[in-house]
Amino acid sequence: MSLAQGRPYLAIPGPSTIPDRVLAAMHRPAPNIYAGDLVDMVATIWPDLRRLALSSGHVALYIANGHGAWEAANANLFSRGDKALVLATGRFGLGWAEHARAMGVAVEMIDFGKSAAADPARLEAALRADRDHQIKAVLVTHVDTSSSVRNDIPAMRAAIDAAGHPALLAVDCIASLGCDEFRMDDWGVDVMVAASQKGVMVPPGLGFVFFNDRALHESRASDLATPYWRWESRALGTEFYQHFAGTAPTHHLFGLRTSLTMILEEEGLAHVWARHATLARAVWSAFDAWGQGGDIALNIADAARRGNSVTAARIGGGGAARLRAWCEQEAGVTLGIGLGMAAPSDADYGDFLRVAHMGHVNAHMTLGVLAVMEAGMQALGVDHGRGALAAATAVVAGA
Ligand SMILES: *Cc1c(COP(=O)(O)O)cnc(C)c1O
Repeated sequence: MSLAQGRPYLAIPGPSTIPDRVLAAMHRPAPNIYAGDLVDMVATIWPDLRRLALSSGHVALYIANGHGAWEAANANLFSRGDKALVLATGRFGLGWAEHARAMGVAVEMIDFGKSAAADPARLEAALRADRDHQIKAVLVTHVDTSSSVRNDIPAMRAAIDAAGHPALLAVDCIASLGCDEFRMDDWGVDVMVAASQKGVMVPPGLGFVFFNDRALHESRASDLATPYWRWESRALGTEFYQHFAGTAPTHHLFGLRTSLTMILEEEGLAHVWARHATLARAVWSAFDAWGQGGDIALNIADAARRGNSVTAARIGGGGAARLRAWCEQEAGVTLGIGLGMAAPSDADYGDFLRVAHMGHVNAHMTLGVLAVMEAGMQALGVDHGRGALAAATAVVAGA
């Protein structure tokens, strides 16, 4: 008997759960885009976005998803033929590189595979080998949502500095902003891209690019930056419409105002990070227990290199695909597909899944997902170790 009726839970790593208050804030008549509530409210968004990124630099806000934010960063960072060094640790690093290549950027890639973090020593060596400083920027994903690896961004900055190389450091925080600790200024990040529909808890449709003065200065020479994407007027424009290169994304902005208040004023950024860290540990402890008695394993073996917003895992014998279907049809929980881990034609395509614990998520939601997964393993006869729920509840109880 299906027990799926009730409020469904989309536990995929974006779009994430939208708080009812964010939806309510968006539910209003079209506002005037020249003066009044919208214009006054947006003036408060810029400083709060900087607080979210711990950045004292600039921010451009695009009507775009994360792919649009990638292109915005690429367009401003590079001219045609310029060189980028991409550190790939999963599907999203590869994707950012593909976008850059398609735009005419010469991409050098270090691919660390699907279950390991970027190695700063290899970054340093690649930069040392680039004696005439052809590499303009290093592109790296903070948390790669496909592998759920979390790269050590301060170590990347240290490697660039150790090599004495002038390359800019650009980081994709689409899956980590508002989930995992990230400090743009302190960590020496020059450019950071993010989007609204993950830790920021707003529907898809807003792309953010943060950049410092040095990146802004370099962007002025870029021949890829077309008027819509160019940072200059978005960051430094004096008219309201210039920040959006036209009509503002009115309703998304009201939703964003509410989510920033929830994160920065009500819960506090440090608590938001700690909540994600605890829920992530609960998920990992459940997988560790399941793995004791079955062909089940977390994708990232080193806990210190796992992101706190999403967990990628393997359940062999097609167990992951069967479990995903069961959870959705029988229990109202949709888990993430295994992205980029195997091709649809591969025999192990159905062996991967992802559990999101991203954004507007609390203990009952995550413990509920884990309990449903265990029920599904029992129902489907997927071999698994005992004690997963006890382990996860102990993490929550000890928080
Ligand atoms: C989701 C995601 C993207 C892509 O964002 P879209 O909004 O789907 O275009 C890129 N990078 C990372 C790390 C992501 O998690």
